[in-house]
Amino acid sequence: MSTATLSQYLKQQTGNLTPELANVIEAIIDSCKTIDQALQKGAIAGILGSAEHENVQGETQKKLDVISNQILIDALQSHPNVGGLASEELDTFTSAQENGQFLVLFDPLDGSSNIDINMCVGTIFSILPAKNAVTQAEDFMQAGTEQVAAGYVMYGPSTMLALTVGAGTVFFTYDIDTQEFILTKTDISINPATQEYAINASNQRHWEAPVQRYINELLEGKTGVRGKDFNMRWVACMVADIHRILCRSGIFMYPYDLKNPKKAGRLRLMYEANPMSMLIEQAGGAATTGRVRILDIQPTELHQRVPVILGSKDEVELVTSYH
Ligand code: MN
Ligand code: MN
Repeated sequence: MSTATLSQYLKQQTGNLTPELANVIEAIIDSCKTIDQALQKGAIAGILGSAEHENVQGETQKKLDVISNQILIDALQSHPNVGGLASEELDTFTSAQENGQFLVLFDPLDGSSNIDINMCVGTIFSILPAKNAVTQAEDFMQAGTEQVAAGYVMYGPSTMLALTVGAGTVFFTYDIDTQEFILTKTDISINPATQEYAINASNQRHWEAPVQRYINELLEGKTGVRGKDFNMRWVACMVADIHRILCRSGIFMYPYDLKNPKKAGRLRLMYEANPMSMLIEQAGGAATTGRVRILDIQPTELHQRVPVILGSKDEVELVTSYH
């Protein structure tokens, strides 16, 4: 098995990966080590439960949402290579250093409703090139295809990092003794066929017809048009659901629904859909809203939401063809 650390891996990469970009990735990952420590302490440190306020999306923040967000901002705002920051937990973008070459966008703690039940949570990040010496709001409005790196850290039984710098998707596992992320899986490739799907089925009555049809066909199993049985999995933490797909294939869906017709979807384009779509495509999978490739979407606002259908190529193509 390889024993390359994250720094060693980043030094071996070429193409997009300048030393400045490597520095930014390492700063993000160092913050995730601090978040990991906080999560490990849990109730002992008195950091479980809700904070006193809601975030810009109208969701109740957990104390750890606030703590994780602050850890990332403290590390990145003063970083010489970071021009600006945007977080799921902040109303607007935050400018950082003049002439910083990169913009960093993040969901500091994904799946945070899992915190109080001691289940999987994660940090998702996306890195875009900066556009101006002094970052402005419009500079963030770049399609997912412009991302120079994306990844997540999953705080699970092992703490793991999934990373892409545009040359495939790889996994690292955190070694708590040396406090280094060690490269543990390369050449990740999602099987185009799968027998596993992930969707919040409690929203079924709100789904559009194409998704209704697709899920009904999966549920019919061997006796239906698909001629095989499927399994359903749902961790309620996007990081964990995507991690499973990168490990053993599958399709993940948070489709458009009619519960709140004005809301385009539940997941955020800039903090969740884009970085996950890059990781999935770099591993040979596909990612769409059902109508358009996610990475091609021209964003119009920082906190934009989109429908998300991603994972094993054959299944994503089938459900897309129903739209
Ligand atoms: Mn999230
Ligand atoms: Mn979050």
